[in-house]
Amino acid sequence: MELSARLYNCARCHDQVIICSPCDHNNIYCGSTCSRAARVQSCQLASHRYQRTLRGRQKHAGRQRRYRERLKNKVTHHSSPVLPPRVVLPRQPNERTSEVLNGHYHCHFCGKPCSPLLRRGYLRHLSLRSSSWPENGKQQE
Ligand SMILES: [Zn+2]
Ligand SMILES: [Zn+2]
Repeated sequence: MELSARLYNCARCHDQVIICSPCDHNNIYCGSTCSRAARVQSCQLASHRYQRTLRGRQKHAGRQRRYRERLKNKVTHHSSPVLPPRVVLPRQPNERTSEVLNGHYHCHFCGKPCSPLLRRGYLRHLSLRSSSWPENGKQQE
């Protein structure tokens, strides 16, 4: 018996993740590695936002600009490696099993075979982005 499953992209590493409904708690990450990392990141973001709103914004921006200009002048002769916008994360052992094996879909978390009729979007209650539901029975081979 195949489990019904949902397909989503990890909110951090953008990997496609298949999750069966027993495992599905409206997850948005592919595993604890990403969720933990994202939590750290969101803390940093929050403090960054806090700084931006609380301090005199213009004053801060002006200072930043001057600082950045100074930095730019300094760095011009450096060959600093420019990272691509999409940083490739090291493959750490997430709870990753496999997704598509021999045309069979498997839950990313428990590894059980899932129905190939994958839902997009979230289970229950989260109908904020209701457009993410597919038409019935539509699937990609
Ligand atoms: Zn991820
Ligand atoms: Zn599962």
